[in-house]
Amino acid sequence: MAAAKCGRWDDWYVSAQSIQKPENPTSEQTLATTPRWERRAIVDLANVRENVKRVAELVAPAKIMAVVKADGYGHGAVAVGRAALQAGATWLGCAHVTEAMKLREAGLTAPLLAWLHTEGTPFEEAIAANIDLAVSGWELDYVARAAEAAALPARIHLKIDTGLGRNGSTPAQWDALLGRAASYQEEGLLRVVGVFSHLAVADEPERPETDEQLVAFGEAVALAEDAGFDLEVRHIANTPAILTRPDAHFDMVRLGLGLYGLSPFNGESPESFGLRPAMSLVSRMANVKRVPAGQRVGYGLRYTTTEDTYLGLVPMGYADGIPRVANNAPVSINGKTYLVRGTIAMDQFVVDLGPDIDVDEFLGAEVILFGEGGPQVTEWADAAGTINYEVVTRISPRVPRFLVEGTWGESGE
Ligand SMILES: *Cc1c(COP(=O)(O)O)cnc(C)c1O
Repeated sequence: MAAAKCGRWDDWYVSAQSIQKPENPTSEQTLATTPRWERRAIVDLANVRENVKRVAELVAPAKIMAVVKADGYGHGAVAVGRAALQAGATWLGCAHVTEAMKLREAGLTAPLLAWLHTEGTPFEEAIAANIDLAVSGWELDYVARAAEAAALPARIHLKIDTGLGRNGSTPAQWDALLGRAASYQEEGLLRVVGVFSHLAVADEPERPETDEQLVAFGEAVALAEDAGFDLEVRHIANTPAILTRPDAHFDMVRLGLGLYGLSPFNGESPESFGLRPAMSLVSRMANVKRVPAGQRVGYGLRYTTTEDTYLGLVPMGYADGIPRVANNAPVSINGKTYLVRGTIAMDQFVVDLGPDIDVDEFLGAEVILFGEGGPQVTEWADAAGTINYEVVTRISPRVPRFLVEGTWGESGE
């Protein structure tokens, strides 16, 4: 194979070799000891920190909960959580207790909330690990029993459904939930430290339902306070509400997408909010070959070349979390944009490089699917008929996460 031209990314590779190992290295670091790479998700923790600082300016004096569920939206929960706490976030949040336990095992001791449970959730272990638990209704008795077994009071956040229609107590059942929680609290089995809710349409600021949800939230909080609970935190804002609804910030905001430097709004870039995307997804060209006009490409033969051209093969596919439907998504190679052609396969996809390339410059060259120096995550989301949240979160474990510290922008061409 011809020598690849890959100065810029190799600079990052070299500098990343020299980055300090965190106290608790995880599988995310393994690529730093791998001599060559074919696929990688590069996560710039300096950008994560900048995003936290930017959001802190917007929400102060409200606190920031860094939401690192789903392995930190695919970026690496432990590394991102640690970076967020270093930059001023004071809470961590996850969907599942099992996710929260991994953060505790990695040595993160910050206040930590898990909010999605089933009867099989290890509540007792959660209480022993000082993990706060969301309660929407049925969980209350389970949590109280687990607290009894653990011989420790549980810290709970009562969740009110203000309109999303997912988890949370209905307003009709709220009074009864407060009453049951109060009697457990009197028994010393738990402490209600928070009341929270989740917004449905904050990413569509022109819609009226966010106002309605905030009114309903205010009423639920007032009822909880009337019931005698001394609340540490009231919280409802997700990233879109953080960016556009100061009246939703309350005591704490739950920062997910914005932590990773992505924008929740259609047509509004992260940069317009002062956010920096943290992840770049990069591969290397596995093959380049000249084909005649009329060459058909990929399973189903759904693309046909219109002229003599070069086809490039990129060794990433849906097993890596690349959406199979993302036909015509852009990639950047040697500073130019090319489009995915034909059906994306499990391990690979094809780009049409046109008739006028120098094969030696392309074989082995880096292919930026999105991120620094390449397309935006939203361009892949648009090609796949989905949202940027899903694109980054679904990048699979086959893609090594490669952590860098502010090498972004410092490495010259
Ligand atoms: C995922 C999640 C968030 C974070 O939402 P973003 O829009 O990514 O900021 C906040 N709260 C709850 C309950 C969530 O499930």
